[in-house]
Amino acid sequence: NLQDTITLHNGLKMPYVGLGVWQMKDENEAVNAVKSAITAGYRSIDTAAVYENEEAVGRGVKESGVSREELFITSKVWNSDQGYDSTLKAFEASLKRLDMDYLDLYLIHWPVEGKYVDTWKAMEKLYNDGLVKAIGVSNFHQHHLEDLFAAGTVKPMVNQVETHPRLNQDALKAFCKENDIALEAWSPLGQGKLLDESVLKEIGEKHGKSSAQVILRWHLQNGTIIIPKSVHENRIKENADLFDFELSAEEMSKVDGLNKDERFGPDPDNFDF
Ligand code: NAD
Repeated sequence: NLQDTITLHNGLKMPYVGLGVWQMKDENEAVNAVKSAITAGYRSIDTAAVYENEEAVGRGVKESGVSREELFITSKVWNSDQGYDSTLKAFEASLKRLDMDYLDLYLIHWPVEGKYVDTWKAMEKLYNDGLVKAIGVSNFHQHHLEDLFAAGTVKPMVNQVETHPRLNQDALKAFCKENDIALEAWSPLGQGKLLDESVLKEIGEKHGKSSAQVILRWHLQNGTIIIPKSVHENRIKENADLFDFELSAEEMSKVDGLNKDERFGPDPDNFDF
């Protein structure tokens, strides 16, 4: 069900489904989306310092009435804050904006060249000091992960990357699986750009489900954590209503057929922010 969890390699349980809040800059929009999601049964929220809505997430959480311990809150250190000391400071600032005394998961947002290893050492300190229950990365290719394995003492628990039926990330998924790193999909719906694919509509019709639900179910059956974003209460509910149907092996491979190894976002080896 909606509260199903994956056990990270340190034993922490993380919900398979969460709400992504990128591009919710309007304070009330973000507060309301977080409240709607928690009321609908979501227990996980994915934010980041650069989304400029950590205060709103904190408010939404408080106004939801669900206790902090029942929730799983993720944030991320932004590129301009990378490096050892600045990461420690950025973490403190995020906690303050969220008005929380710990995070469940803190991620390095992008692998900033020349900095991400030092950033990782700060993440390890935050973890060892008990300020965050799990640490991980985002937008890391295999070679970035291997750098952390060589230089660090804690293996990332999560890698959050762009993946959806157009970009299956099969090689990276296999590498993460071998290394006990949970794979989390950003833009799990391909930013909404795949919803008109006829194969998704056909499969959806058979199950009485939408294209969005077919994609999200495909992720879950692949063992991928998902954080679909919506500000609309009906879609927030729809994106969590995934546990009363199953895609057959044939349907799974039809969805697999949409892959073109095509990104909607930047390649982590070539980004300039
Ligand atoms: P998404 O794939 O979740 O798509 C969201 C869009 O799809 C919505 O804006 C809406 O237009 C549409 N949509 C959502 N539900 C729908 C439904 N049921 N029916 C029809 N249309 C629907 O895209 P996203 O926001 O890019 O990604 C989700 C989350 O991933 C973000 O909010 C953020 O938390 C995270 N993210 C992380 C990174 C990173 O670098 N780590 C980058 C991008 C996004």
